[in-house]
Amino acid sequence: MTGPAASGQSAGRGTMPTYIGMPAFPEAAAAALGNGQLRRNLAHATTTIRAKRAGAVAELADWQQLRAAAKAIKDHTLAHLDTYLTRLEQRVTDAGGQVHWAAGAAEANSIVARLVRAAGADSAVKVKSMTTQETGLNEALAAERITALETDLAELIVQLGHDRPSHILVPAIHRNRGEIRDIFLAGMAGAPPGLTDQPAELAAAARAHLRRAFLSAKVGISGANFAIAETGTLVVVESEGNGRMCVTLPETLISVVGIEKVLPGWRDLEVFLALLPRSSTAERMNPYTSTWTGVHPGDGPGAFHLVLLDNGRTAALADAVGRQALRCIRCSACLNVCPVYERVGGHAYGSPYPGPIGAIITPQLRGLTSPADASLPYASTLCGACYDVCPVAINIPEALVHLRAGVVEEKRSHAFDPERMVMRQTARILRSGRALGLAQRAASASRLLLGRSGRIRRLPPPLSGWTKTRDAPAPPPESFRAWWARTHKPGDGGARR
Ligand code: SF4
Repeated sequence: MTGPAASGQSAGRGTMPTYIGMPAFPEAAAAALGNGQLRRNLAHATTTIRAKRAGAVAELADWQQLRAAAKAIKDHTLAHLDTYLTRLEQRVTDAGGQVHWAAGAAEANSIVARLVRAAGADSAVKVKSMTTQETGLNEALAAERITALETDLAELIVQLGHDRPSHILVPAIHRNRGEIRDIFLAGMAGAPPGLTDQPAELAAAARAHLRRAFLSAKVGISGANFAIAETGTLVVVESEGNGRMCVTLPETLISVVGIEKVLPGWRDLEVFLALLPRSSTAERMNPYTSTWTGVHPGDGPGAFHLVLLDNGRTAALADAVGRQALRCIRCSACLNVCPVYERVGGHAYGSPYPGPIGAIITPQLRGLTSPADASLPYASTLCGACYDVCPVAINIPEALVHLRAGVVEEKRSHAFDPERMVMRQTARILRSGRALGLAQRAASASRLLLGRSGRIRRLPPPLSGWTKTRDAPAPPPESFRAWWARTHKPGDGGARR
């Protein structure tokens, strides 16, 4: 890719290589629901974060105005994305950095691998980055015999446990302290043999493990929360200080950034630095906000590379309703309030982006053609809690309904569509009084299937999908039309009792 796509221009869909072959949401969710430990861990964590966020947000009288400002800034930037990306490229280059354009995940990964090798390294330390999870960078580097060490504590837990992240902000939310201790003892070189599950001990073990890597790393890899076009400055927001180490200590810094992360200027950043910490960790101010602009001799990395990634973003931008998902600042507030996410966790979404935002961003980046992606817009009750908390006012229910329409359209393009056949047949029955009467008599006959509870537990195909996860209510022994016909005669003026 040689430059930014023009605003609104359609482009190819993206890929998320390490998530290929994941089952559709209903199947994955059913498996997750069977895991009692997972549900307890999730319920505890999301309840706690939810309450803290609500308290932190309530402290700001102008929260709704901030939210509206953030929405307006993002919408303006997305409408002029080509202008701001070109400006960002120019400013980064002026400041001594190099900009690389990647159309998809494979291209981004191969650029990073080449840059790591060019730096004379076979390993790198990493700041937590959703974008590199999306591209499957760690696995791609491993295939090139390059080791990427995650330095965020939760990402480290996931990496050592050969696991997948299940939350945007708290990737190991599905693990409790005992499980984390076991993972450290099994996979962390130099972990103290008598390690307990006390948080301070676990953090100390991780700190000792990571410090050695920080001090010897030649290459650091990061994403960025924001990229400021005005000066070519990148911004990473984090809570542990590991990000600061990764972007300052190594000789070479490589940042892989989605093209939607650009902001016009520093005044815009102020709005997001007020919204993001309160929405994500319920903090009034973010603990570590690192900013860097190109390179400066004797201060920080001597080489800086910015890899700007599309991977389906311009295709999403072309959709007038769906493009609002590109406003997302990955705060994860929508996950923590979602009744579906709270019960099934993140793995069921088959993507690095779980929860409500995952249900709308993943199908837009990857398209709606696979069963897994087509199932995601239905992974919601449409209760709207996600929209209420979103700091950039993404109307997630609206986008979900819009994407569901896309799924229906996609199905229509196939010759065999059972749902469409059922709907057509239903329309025929509802148009004919005789056919409706026959159907109602057949429904009344289904009372023979009633269980002792008075409800139908199992229906034959093609209706078996309904009773797979719920009982069906018993139809009345007689329909209204049958009752009317039995108790009235034409012209008798009233019911015969
Ligand atoms: S959709 Fe909104 S609430 Fe959800 S992660 Fe993105 S910014 Fe946060």
